[in-house]
Amino acid sequence: MSTWSQAGPRTVSEHAAAVAALLPPTGTEPVALAAASGRVLAEDLTAGVALPPFDNSAMDGYAVRAAELAGASAAAPVELPVAADVPAGRTDVPALAPGTVARIMTGAPVPEGADAIVPVEQTDARPGGGLDRVRIHEAPQPGAFVRRAGEDAAAGAVVLRAGTVLAAPQIGLAAAVGRAELPVRRRPHVLVLSTGSELVAPGGTLAPGQIYESNGTMLAVAVREAGATAEQLSFVPDDVERFRAVLAERVGDGVDLVLTSGGVSAGAYEVVKDAMTGHGVEFGKVAMQPGGPQGCGRLELGGTGVATVTLPGNPVSSQVSFEVFVRPALRAAAGHPAPARPVVTARLSGALSSPAGRRQFRRGLLDAAAGTVSEVGSTGSHLIAALARADCLIDLPADATSVADGEQVAVWLLDAP
Ligand code: AMP
Ligand code: MG
Repeated sequence: MSTWSQAGPRTVSEHAAAVAALLPPTGTEPVALAAASGRVLAEDLTAGVALPPFDNSAMDGYAVRAAELAGASAAAPVELPVAADVPAGRTDVPALAPGTVARIMTGAPVPEGADAIVPVEQTDARPGGGLDRVRIHEAPQPGAFVRRAGEDAAAGAVVLRAGTVLAAPQIGLAAAVGRAELPVRRRPHVLVLSTGSELVAPGGTLAPGQIYESNGTMLAVAVREAGATAEQLSFVPDDVERFRAVLAERVGDGVDLVLTSGGVSAGAYEVVKDAMTGHGVEFGKVAMQPGGPQGCGRLELGGTGVATVTLPGNPVSSQVSFEVFVRPALRAAAGHPAPARPVVTARLSGALSSPAGRRQFRRGLLDAAAGTVSEVGSTGSHLIAALARADCLIDLPADATSVADGEQVAVWLLDAP
């Protein structure tokens, strides 16, 4: 069997498929409604009650028999006795006797026998009054201002489909049909580990030759933004034993993915490669830029293999590879109906050249109103300040060697979900 490194570079799609194959669909767990925002509904939701649950009034006014008011007008108002008062929440509403009306508030049950609501504005009643007799000066249509039981959803109807991403309106609906919690797809749990002997934690002091560690926090946040949970391990120097020890301590049940950064390219001191080669993780090149050197597999650490993706260390390479390979795989595993970023086309502002045979993801700024996109910074995969100014990735096909000013390009929207 030829290994990836011998077989030559993978395409972006091939490596994306290899990463996705490491993350099977997650199971189901219940969550309280207030915690369900952004989660993926695991089962169809059926309405436990009809919506509305009972015929109720859409207005503050009077519940009437429409036929008794057929002739009512401003010139010839009809006066009737008020037989009952029905505020919202009344549970013992009496039936409406012929020749009477009931004062009723919005959301209150329509008394049996009534078939229309006359708004208070179409009567001589004043707010808080009209509890004895009322003069009605408009003829209601049968059914006027009555909100019918089940007109929004029938009891037992499917009101949300499995796979729905839950936001405020869906969670409001679940509450309206009486659910206190919902079954949702479990979030994948990801261990994030950065490597590099040059790294110093932000807040510390840099000696010459050292840099602040940025990938760990960036990737942990990206994992959470993808709807998964992240545990950021303390970054390790380029020391195979230390690296193995930190992982071995945490890898186990409940870890869906190990995500590392750095130490996977062709130099000396490639700690991730050295620690994982021959232990279930394969390393090689992907025909892309940034993010050429990559690795993935099932790391054998003790018992069963744990899904592992090893990203290159340059911050832009790390983050772009996360976007291209890891984010969609995490979202797919969690049952998200649209795992990929939305892609639009835009006209390129300014010409770009691109290496033959490598798919390039340039950092861009989209002008949605003008339908144009321009590059931010340049191709260097260390340019994290430029990455931070970008709101999209310009996806240049592997076979493109130049793209002219004004040409249509595909753009991945990073600020959309
Ligand atoms: P590597 O992939 O380990 O060879 O690292 C490539 C480049 O990325 C080097 O310039 C590293 O200093 C830098 N780098 C690697 N890991 C990190 C990190 N966690 N934070 C910031 N820069 C990093
Ligand atoms: Mg390194």
